[in-house]
Amino acid sequence: MEKIANYIDGQFRAPVAGKYLDNINPSIGEVYSLIPDSDGDDVQLAVEAATRAFEGWSSLLPDKRFAVLARIADLIDRDADALALAESIDQGKPVKLAKSMDIFRAGANIRFYATGAMHFSAEAHATGVEAVNYTLRSPVGVAGCISPWNLPLYLFTWKIAPALAAGCTVVAKPSELTPMTAYLFTKLCQEAGLPQGVLNVVHGLGPKVGQAIIDHPGIPAISFTGGTVTGKKITTTAGPMLKKLSLELGGKNPNIIFADADFDQAVATSISSSFTNQGEICLCGSRILIERPLYEKFVKAFVAKTKELVIGDPLNEATRIGALVSEAHMNKVLSYIDLATKEGGTILTGGKRVTVSGRCAKGFFVEPTVVTGLPANCRTNQEEIFGPVVTLAPFDREEEALAMANGTSYGLSATLWTSDLTRAHRISSQLKCGIVWVNCWLYRDLRTPFGGTKGSGVGREGGWEAMRFFTEAKNVCIRL
Ligand code: NDP
Repeated sequence: MEKIANYIDGQFRAPVAGKYLDNINPSIGEVYSLIPDSDGDDVQLAVEAATRAFEGWSSLLPDKRFAVLARIADLIDRDADALALAESIDQGKPVKLAKSMDIFRAGANIRFYATGAMHFSAEAHATGVEAVNYTLRSPVGVAGCISPWNLPLYLFTWKIAPALAAGCTVVAKPSELTPMTAYLFTKLCQEAGLPQGVLNVVHGLGPKVGQAIIDHPGIPAISFTGGTVTGKKITTTAGPMLKKLSLELGGKNPNIIFADADFDQAVATSISSSFTNQGEICLCGSRILIERPLYEKFVKAFVAKTKELVIGDPLNEATRIGALVSEAHMNKVLSYIDLATKEGGTILTGGKRVTVSGRCAKGFFVEPTVVTGLPANCRTNQEEIFGPVVTLAPFDREEEALAMANGTSYGLSATLWTSDLTRAHRISSQLKCGIVWVNCWLYRDLRTPFGGTKGSGVGREGGWEAMRFFTEAKNVCIRL
């Protein structure tokens, strides 16, 4: 059985304590590889390597940093099929989706920030004719990057690429549920000639490896994507240590559909925004709010389309809904479906675990589930379920839709369907979240800031802001 290795100082290493964890393929429910059960000793080695490498990497001219990062992106493209297969086996998502979304975007992240290394610039301010101020931005040091299991390589690269481009060296931890693509990625980094110690990847559990990264005094900046509860925990350690913190956390995103929307597009895209990746995307719209005149028609069409979704072996081309990431997560999702019923909801379709025939008979599959009849303030409509479960509710007035949309502790994203341009602008400005998609979903331009408000996080990532996060600014003021 394959043993995944840590990547420290340019070498593949077993964990210091020699312990391993099982890596389970969620679509067949069986162990298929072993993951280092690393601890603080491995993190210590990684920080030492990253610290040694920092001077060389941070002082490398931008075109040299660009060249090696661009080579890594090319290698991702070359190995896209193998990476997609690994991601599908690790995470349970359809292999087709892994290739078109995760692996494609992982390459795009690295390529975008490779060019960022070349284009990154700082500001200068002339104070009339009396003085000139300019800003020097230097890489902050060793960056700690911690990523979740839902979009494994995509979000792993989303964190490390801007850090590396800005000149930081990195100690990273992928989720222990989905370590394989980060492991394969480190092989590509080695092949591309990334200097030793610039990227160090330590595999293992959050409370051991993740916490050791947060605790380490040699890591001044932490970029974290994961759940809100974990994010809050991280602040209790990193806050008093005055570390720079970027937290991308959970969401409970509204999808607002007005009666004047393009109906077919709104239904089709809402199916995607509800159920892509089994609903395990922080940006999925899990609360669909529909203007009353359209409500019955929309519900009927949406339920019919949901029933058409093919649930099955993630390796089949036709599969749209794969397995959930783990048995524990499947049970959590099923418990929320149970809660929805107890809270008075009506399940229009789905609601149960699915037994897929053949090799996936023991996999963790759940039917895409549509629930109606729940009040906006119930737990089902307030808490992040992070699975293929959506609620549908009608609204009569724009203010009511806004109040429901903004009425959770989260503020990550929102989707809005209308053909009224003025209304689109008006509502977009009033939604309390980090990104609003109008008549589309998940369309990304990497130059734009990205991140949530309220319980969905602090700090904006994306664009040059992500690179700035990994730098320290110093102003130089010259009196003329
Ligand atoms: P978790 O918060 O459980 O874990 C995220 C990462 O943090 C994992 O690598 C985890 O390791 C690690 N971790 C856990 N405990 C600690 C700790 N004490 N100190 C440091 N690191 C720790 O999130 P999930 O992996 O369950 O991911 C799902 C969540 O991520 C959802 O809430 C989702 O909304 C959010 N998310 C947010 C995104 C955004 O852009 N805002 C994007 C994607 C997901 P381990 O796996 O070993 O527990």
